[in-house]
Amino acid sequence: MELEFYGATRRVTGSCHILRAGGYTIILDCGLVQGSRETEELNHEPFPFNPAEVDAVVLSHGHIDHSGRLPLLVSRGFRGPVYTHHATIDLCNVLLKDSASLAEHDAQYRRRHGDGDAAPLYTVEEAMRAIGHMKGLRYGQKQQIVPGISVRLHDAGHILGSAFVEIEVSEGDVHRTFVFSGDMGQYDSPILNDPEAIGQADVVIVESTYGDRLHKNFDLTVAEIGEIISTACLECGNILIPAFAVGRSQELLYLFGQHYHEWDLAKWEIFLDSPMAIEASRIYWSHEELWDEEAALFRRNVRRMPPVGNLHLTGKIEESMTINSMNEGAIIIAGSGMCNGGRIIHHLKHNLERPDCHILISGFMAEGTLGRQLVEGRKEVFLHGRPYRVEARVHTIGGLSAHGDRNDLLRWLRTGEGSPAVMIVHGEESVKESFKGFLKDELAVDAMIPQPGDRLDLATVTLHRAVDENTNEKHKE
Ligand SMILES: [Zn+2]
Repeated sequence: MELEFYGATRRVTGSCHILRAGGYTIILDCGLVQGSRETEELNHEPFPFNPAEVDAVVLSHGHIDHSGRLPLLVSRGFRGPVYTHHATIDLCNVLLKDSASLAEHDAQYRRRHGDGDAAPLYTVEEAMRAIGHMKGLRYGQKQQIVPGISVRLHDAGHILGSAFVEIEVSEGDVHRTFVFSGDMGQYDSPILNDPEAIGQADVVIVESTYGDRLHKNFDLTVAEIGEIISTACLECGNILIPAFAVGRSQELLYLFGQHYHEWDLAKWEIFLDSPMAIEASRIYWSHEELWDEEAALFRRNVRRMPPVGNLHLTGKIEESMTINSMNEGAIIIAGSGMCNGGRIIHHLKHNLERPDCHILISGFMAEGTLGRQLVEGRKEVFLHGRPYRVEARVHTIGGLSAHGDRNDLLRWLRTGEGSPAVMIVHGEESVKESFKGFLKDELAVDAMIPQPGDRLDLATVTLHRAVDENTNEKHKE
């Protein structure tokens, strides 16, 4: 029995690992590599296994960097089931379809601009076929996926339906339990439950996106949002909030509902200007059984979720365009989350050059995105090729994150019983090293950092390197 590390090992995106035991092959996550155009070309490459010979997939959650290559796996011959949480299937209906339609549009654009052979990574139809392979599980439900291998999903508190996966593998007399974190959420975040405890395990594979830092305090972050809204109200401007459709948009609406009177939100018109976020919100509010106690109690006290009477769901383009005529009193939540496309660009065009307007940045902005330029305080940016002066005030609030920080990850790892070995994946190289050092100090654990192609012998819990580090050194010389 062995686990081969493949994706999200050297980089953050493209999560994918291969479990081989008892003659079966199981894939854990099948994510898209995201980044520059050159990096994303990697998604077209063959899998390091024959998709037709894969017996099953286990999917931790709906984010595209964990689920986004599933349609490709199916179109290349995979015929088995994809085990995941019920809510993840619902979110994949939104996320995978969106990913496919972006790929189709991109291919069309490239064909029009001289690349006659440009084909999408996959089509909407192929995405739908992949969703057809999904089998829904509940948290805590033990499911045998092939003889000798069973899985159980546990709440990871990252997005709705997100799970860390407990996998029990038996081969002859050897029984091993390993845990794959997927992405881990923050403790005490709104709407969702805290990550569940790990329990007994021989090995834990842990993500490390924020393994080298601490998030800003959540209550301070919420207070900061309140202050921004009060200032904007006095100055009679608009507030623009670029936000991811899944997770962040719902968190913001939930906070608006909770602080509706305190923040005097009745004075505003609030717009959720993203068809995808509207869909994702419907899914979030329909899965009340997955909310934490606070959210459930809140729901019992209010008639609708979120309790924001002046919320406008502007799904259609014409509806979205009417927002442009508002010079004040509009709070606009729109995608894309990093301002590298989507409706937020149109709202920026109308508001960026106005000193009474406010841009509230609540999420991570990758290098090279417009959002990053705003965070860095650029005085001028280009929107659709035209320069715009940045007169609006840009506020970066740090406390909302779907990922746990270093202390959250530590707190979670402390819930492991039986001194499990720890493998660090899903992080920048320097972050993983920093997190390894942190775990050594705090947990006295000598964590391992697997590289792509490395194989973990689960029976002996030994990591076999694909590339001999000494040989590698020689190559470098
Ligand atoms: Zn995620």
